Amino acid sequence: MGTTIFTVMSALAAEKNAVNLGQGFPDFEGDPRLVDAVADAMRKGLNQYPLMTGVPALRQAVAAKIAALYGHAYDANSEITITAGATQAILTAILAVVHPGDEVIVLEPCYDSYVPNIELAGGVVVRVPLGSSSEPGSFQPDFDRIAAALTPKTRAIIINTPHNPSATVWSRAHMEKLQALLAPTNVLVIADEVYEHMVYDGQQHESVARYPGLAARSFIVSSFGKTYHVTGWKVAYVAAPASLMAEFRKVHQFNVFTVNTPVQHGLATYMADPQPYLTLPAFYQRKRDLFRAGLAKTKFRLLPSEGSYFQCVDISQLSVPERNLSEADFCLWLTAEIGVAAIPLSAFYGNGHDQKVIRFCYAKKDETLQLALERLSRL
Ligand code: PMP
Ligand code: GLN
Repeated sequence: MGTTIFTVMSALAAEKNAVNLGQGFPDFEGDPRLVDAVADAMRKGLNQYPLMTGVPALRQAVAAKIAALYGHAYDANSEITITAGATQAILTAILAVVHPGDEVIVLEPCYDSYVPNIELAGGVVVRVPLGSSSEPGSFQPDFDRIAAALTPKTRAIIINTPHNPSATVWSRAHMEKLQALLAPTNVLVIADEVYEHMVYDGQQHESVARYPGLAARSFIVSSFGKTYHVTGWKVAYVAAPASLMAEFRKVHQFNVFTVNTPVQHGLATYMADPQPYLTLPAFYQRKRDLFRAGLAKTKFRLLPSEGSYFQCVDISQLSVPERNLSEADFCLWLTAEIGVAAIPLSAFYGNGHDQKVIRFCYAKKDETLQLALERLSRL
């Protein structure tokens, strides 16, 4: 196993003094009120181990948010657990339910931790491509392909909306199709919803929590790091029916046992105000539009960005000969010679599938985006 693409590209960006639009993280600060709330918790002496499952006030705040937004009531005691980031949550969910030889469906391209996580559990990875042959360049789920991948050994499917890296958002119709497809099965769902509050153009986030037939078989994962611009805090949560959560916690207690106390208290206080996540779509939609307007003047071909903070572009029409490099080599060249770091989409596929598409992250200050656009306009 090599080093993750995010580590590789961020190190190269730092070395070459490039604008880092590769690894997904904001280059601006979160709300000072959140930082104050965490500092207050530290000063109040909330610095020892919290409950294994997480600080009760934070679990209650999460349950209240899910109920308000998606209409599903999770019990804060038995159905919500606070984790050390979504990465831990996904690994722990997989270790809790996947037994050696169980099949787990992943929809490619997918976030780079899913496949190694399944392999760590001894599971068998079943890759289903997103998009359909009739619609090149689309990353919509194809339910005929998913149906064909289901077998009696299928234990779980991992879904991710809004989607990293393609920035596609699943619709109500997609969720209803998934619900109908899984209804006659015992297949579990791991729903990676870390970008739940970044959905644009008036669309709504289709959490599995909205669909009773899915909620009953799902682990929902979301990350405070994404929502509150604090990716380095590595605090997230999982919501699942009590029977699944009991299994999750068996692994969680011997995995991390528990998560940073003052950050949990600070988040609980801060979550009393829903405005920060309710205003997030407008905040990021403006950045998306600014970035897209700049890219539209270049020879990069824009793919849709319906959600998340990513923008994929096709490089095949650029005027430079480097457009013929592999995506991965193009990204190395772009970082070293043009001064903008990006992530090749091939990093999200098992077989290195190369379709001349790279991913930028626009969770950046306007001036960072402007500087990147100036450099990219040379191509
Ligand atoms: N899932 C997806 C789709 C992501 O993009 C990320 C962020 N890298 C994660 C999970 C992990 O989130 P966290 O930083 O909270 O571990
Ligand atoms: N989720 C972020 C991305 O896709 C960062 C992930 C990481 O650094 N492991 O870029």
